Amino acid sequence: MHRLFAARLALVCLLPVLPLAAQPFHFPTANHSLLEKGAEEKFFVGTAGKPWTSGTFGCVRSDGRQIHEGLDIRCQRRDKKGEPVDPILATADGTVAYVSSNPSLSNYGKYIVLRHQVEGLEICSLYAHLSSIQAGLKPGQTVKAGEPVGIMGRTSNTRERISQERAHVHFELDLFINEQFPDWFKKSRPGERNDHGVWNGQNLVGLDPRLILLAQHAQGAKFSLVEFIRGQTELCRVLVREKNLSWAGRFPALLRRNPVTEKEGVAGYEISLNYNAVAFQLTPRAASEIKGAGRFQLLAVNAAEQEKNPGRHLVARAGQNWTLTSRGRDALELLAR
Ligand SMILES: [Zn+2]
Repeated sequence: MHRLFAARLALVCLLPVLPLAAQPFHFPTANHSLLEKGAEEKFFVGTAGKPWTSGTFGCVRSDGRQIHEGLDIRCQRRDKKGEPVDPILATADGTVAYVSSNPSLSNYGKYIVLRHQVEGLEICSLYAHLSSIQAGLKPGQTVKAGEPVGIMGRTSNTRERISQERAHVHFELDLFINEQFPDWFKKSRPGERNDHGVWNGQNLVGLDPRLILLAQHAQGAKFSLVEFIRGQTELCRVLVREKNLSWAGRFPALLRRNPVTEKEGVAGYEISLNYNAVAFQLTPRAASEIKGAGRFQLLAVNAAEQEKNPGRHLVARAGQNWTLTSRGRDALELLAR
């Protein structure tokens, strides 16, 4: 952090006319119809028989009860047989985190994950249902924004195949949750397979790429990913009684200062979650500030937001009160490791 600041300071001193960072994210294919007004159908692919909105990010599946954590971006180029051939492009400069080339091991089919540093924050991008992965692409390798990393396809291990007509890339922008995911998975999903180590989709929590792409287009160099994340709507606020929260270490930009813990030490964190369980604001709390004994305590629920975006089922109403559901506890358990 310190070194970065010094480097920036040096840049500012030496090159006062240098423009601010360019827009951090590129479209993952040549399809840019998202930026055309009213052209959503040219950009998004809905699920079979459903409108384009079911291909957007959010609580858009099963009448809002199920969340879709990415964008399904429509194919623009096909070969003679009608198969998609759109090149898939790295959304930003970064490194390859994971390559999953066996399509039978995931509902993502063949997929890759890249990691990027944007404003000192690590963000991952994921590209799924590929027909092929760029030859020689390996974890650790660096990639440039706009560089081809694969070819669009329709691979998946789900029983219902993706039809030619619905060919798309499933594109995610995610925050990595926890290095200890494989342990958590073993305990909380007994009998289920995890073939992807920490790069299982369940260890990545999605932000809405549509909102990010539109915001950076509208704001230009003023766009800030950190501000975008900090500006999420709170679905609920919880207290997690855990001194060492790996999320707090990984995303210090999301931490608020608390003079009490600076004096007394940290006993837990008060965490604001958005509807997809992204912990977008964390306030450390001292033992003297924590009431109650539970490891997880639900402090507040935004009922309007829960009604609007219920797909993660993190909280539920119990009579007059709200409680954390087992899914809510599960999400916190992974976060709190
Ligand atoms: Zn999708």
